Amino acid sequence: MSETPQANSARKALVLFSGGQDSTACLAWALERYAEVETIGFDYGQRHRVELDCRQTVRAELIARFPAWAPKLGEDHLLDLALLGQISSTALTEHRAIEMLANGLPNTFVPGRNLLFLTFAATLAYRRGASVLVGGMCETDFSGYPDCRDNTLKALQVALSLGLDAPMTVETPLMFITKAQTWALTESLGGAALNELIIEHTHTCYLGERTQRHAWGYGCGSCPACELRARGFQEFSETAS
Ligand code: ZN
Repeated sequence: MSETPQANSARKALVLFSGGQDSTACLAWALERYAEVETIGFDYGQRHRVELDCRQTVRAELIARFPAWAPKLGEDHLLDLALLGQISSTALTEHRAIEMLANGLPNTFVPGRNLLFLTFAATLAYRRGASVLVGGMCETDFSGYPDCRDNTLKALQVALSLGLDAPMTVETPLMFITKAQTWALTESLGGAALNELIIEHTHTCYLGERTQRHAWGYGCGSCPACELRARGFQEFSETAS
């Protein structure tokens, strides 16, 4: 395969898209930058289907409200990773309370999950002619997940590019920004309309709660994911006003 460098504006990207705030920010970021963008999601027996349902709504709303992005947004791929549920036992896939473990990680941690996701994504990207993978991993607000760290992902980028014998860039636009800065990023990409879309249609809550509507969106308001999202939105609102 040719390794001639391509301008970003001519490249095709595959975005790891869960239907949450962070991956929606990544999707908008990629649509602004690359010629073509496809999305990939993973079904691994999450406790709540709501996040997977949000994926289709967010994609449809982006196409409806952002005519400049609509023609760039290509296919969506949903991979069945039921085997991940077989090899891990965590609060995300079983009915267990979310708590901190002795090693300082929450029990929502699926060991090496992002390594697996990115590797499956790279295989699909190769087939689809995409040379950029975009993911919402973040060191700033992360829950201590070692597979969200910048160095982990840099190492994986090298391993994937060597193993595929093709350039495979791993982009993580949220790596060093706070949740408040993520709201500012999406505002800069798509204005208030994009943030309204994110508030209304993306899902973050660990408990799958979608009946309580807050200024920052739907959720229980008290799980770690809701608290992070609410705090970030409040900080963003304070600096914006
Ligand atoms: Zn919640």
